[in-house]
Amino acid sequence: MLGFCRDFATLALFFGGSLFAEVKVFENFTLIDGTGRGPAARQAMIVDGGRIGWVGPESRLKKPAGAESIDLGGKFVMPGIINLHGHVGNTIDLTQDAKYFTRENIEKNLKTYAMYGVTTVVSMGTDQNLIFKIREEQRGTGRPLMARVYTAGEGFVYKGSYGGLAGVNRPVATVAEVEARLDELAAEKVDLVKLWLDDHMSTFKTKMPYNIARAIIEGAHRRGLRATAHIFYLEDARQVVEAGVNGLAHNIRDKPVDQALIDSMKKHGTWLQAATLSREASQFIYASQPPFAAAPFFTRGVSQNVVNTLRDPKYQKSIRDDPEFERYRPIFEMAKRNLKTLADAGVHYGFGTDTGPPGRFPGYFEQWEMQLMVEAGLTPMQVIVAATRSGAEFLQAKDLGTLEPSKWADMIVLERNPVENIKNTETIQAVYIAGNRVN
Ligand SMILES: [Zn+2]
Repeated sequence: MLGFCRDFATLALFFGGSLFAEVKVFENFTLIDGTGRGPAARQAMIVDGGRIGWVGPESRLKKPAGAESIDLGGKFVMPGIINLHGHVGNTIDLTQDAKYFTRENIEKNLKTYAMYGVTTVVSMGTDQNLIFKIREEQRGTGRPLMARVYTAGEGFVYKGSYGGLAGVNRPVATVAEVEARLDELAAEKVDLVKLWLDDHMSTFKTKMPYNIARAIIEGAHRRGLRATAHIFYLEDARQVVEAGVNGLAHNIRDKPVDQALIDSMKKHGTWLQAATLSREASQFIYASQPPFAAAPFFTRGVSQNVVNTLRDPKYQKSIRDDPEFERYRPIFEMAKRNLKTLADAGVHYGFGTDTGPPGRFPGYFEQWEMQLMVEAGLTPMQVIVAATRSGAEFLQAKDLGTLEPSKWADMIVLERNPVENIKNTETIQAVYIAGNRVN
């Protein structure tokens, strides 16, 4: 054994340590680092074992001997997108069922996200225990060849209220039940605790009572966990913010946010975790053939079956026949308006879509969400920072979010400059996770 160790050490020395950590040098690109700094031309980056060792002007590059050089041909590099609100594993094509929650389907979703430049996704409360195994495998190496997954495990719904969610089977009715479930979630080391507080525009007769929501939030905090709430109404948002919730998983959609909510969110440090504008759009966009149904950038991420369905007049009619159909566009407009108000007011906001359920397509919808956020009045740079640095900040993931030394080299190589036009985030030439090309 001793002999083996000595030989191994000699071998490692011989290769200058590169046996353990391959070194890559990316050259000749314009850097958008995710911090909010403007694009910097003629940059270079040294990536050692998947982490950024150095990044700066090409003129100051000291190329390590034996490193692999990758010439990016003057293209644009930005950090990988962090989606703070997704759902993995439960959907195939346009059908959702907890029985689809297999390793194969989860990994297929995570690879699709990665293909579109989404290198991290938070799965928000519809996961079975298999997710913890996949998450631990990823975190073991830190270098998955698919999007990194964070998870809220199985979230909280109140008995008899908002439901029908694949993977959510254990509604609670009492504080004692909340406490017992929180103990399980703490043992599973969930990244967030999720609760649903909604009646889907009064279509459910009961809604989670505030004392139960408060018990979940406060109980999560006592266990060192952070809590996030699905809300719809301004009044519900006010209640959970006052109770100390860490994130709002959707925007307020019934009325304009008011100064009292803004003040309370700032006082409590509450984030608008995800504005989910593309989710709201998905409620009405399929009433006729959506503009993207024929776009190769969309169709490459879905099955032919999905494309055929979206083009089918019978499917489109079924969308129009939804009794709530007329209400969805104003809800979408309200979500946009409230995003702009909250951002202008200085409330922390991240980036998230609610992709995964039928009709909300992983990867493509994150790209679309960025465009919708610009339509809502944010600048492309504000959107890029929300989808990168701010996402990591919300997750307290210090290895992610920006392209700075010590972080994982999770990044997207683009043909064109996304700061000039946010739609240019679609000009993906390559995606890297921890320095490995994944698409
Ligand atoms: Zn969701």
